[in-house]
Amino acid sequence: MGESTERSEPADRQAFERIEAQIEERDNWARRRRKGIPTDKQLLVVACMDERIPVEEALGLSLGDAHIFRNAGGKVTSDVIRSAALSTNFFDTTEIIVINHTDCGMMSAPDDAVVEGLEATAGGDLQDVDLHPALSNLDIGDASIADWVWMTDDVDEACHAQVDYLRDHPLVPDEVTVHGYIYEVESDALRRPGERVAEQINTRVSEQ
Ligand code: ZN
Repeated sequence: MGESTERSEPADRQAFERIEAQIEERDNWARRRRKGIPTDKQLLVVACMDERIPVEEALGLSLGDAHIFRNAGGKVTSDVIRSAALSTNFFDTTEIIVINHTDCGMMSAPDDAVVEGLEATAGGDLQDVDLHPALSNLDIGDASIADWVWMTDDVDEACHAQVDYLRDHPLVPDEVTVHGYIYEVESDALRRPGERVAEQINTRVSEQ
C-alpha cells in the first residue's frame, strides 16, 4: 500500500545480498580501526570533563562520529597532544574542535589552594610524585605543580590558546583544521570565544 515507496534499496534485492551487507556493515563497525576506517566525521573533540557539557548534543554528534577527549578544563595537555597526534596521523582525523565553557571548575580556586590540597593527599612535596605510571622519568622540569594543574584565568583566552597549541604542534599535520568554541552553561549555547550570549562573568579574577 505504498509502504515501500520510500525505500532506497531495490525491492528485489536478494536475501543473501542483504545478509552480506549486514555482515559487512557489522564488520566495518567492529574492526574499523584495523580496517583503517576513520570516525564518521573524521573529527576529534577536546572538551572539559564538566558534567554539564552535552558535547555530543551541542555538536550534533552520534555514536561513531568522533573521537572525544575530555579532561579538566579542556586543556591541551601532553595526553591531548598524544591523542591528537595518533588520531590525525593514523586514523584520518582532519578536524579538531576544542570546547571550553563558562563557570569552569578550573577557575574556581587559587593556584595555592589547589597545590596545597594535592600536597596534603600526597603527604609531601609533589616534585617527587610520578606523573606518568609507566614513565617515571617523565617530569615537568622547572615548571611548578601549579603550571601542571593549569588552572584557567579566562575561558575565552584559554580557548584561543588551546586552538593555537594544536594548530602549531609539530605532531598535528598542517592541513588539520582546528577551531574552538565556548559552551555557556547559562544559555546552553555554543559561541565563539570572545563573544557572549548570556550576560555573566566568566573570568577567574572577577569571580574572586
Ligand atoms: Zn570545566
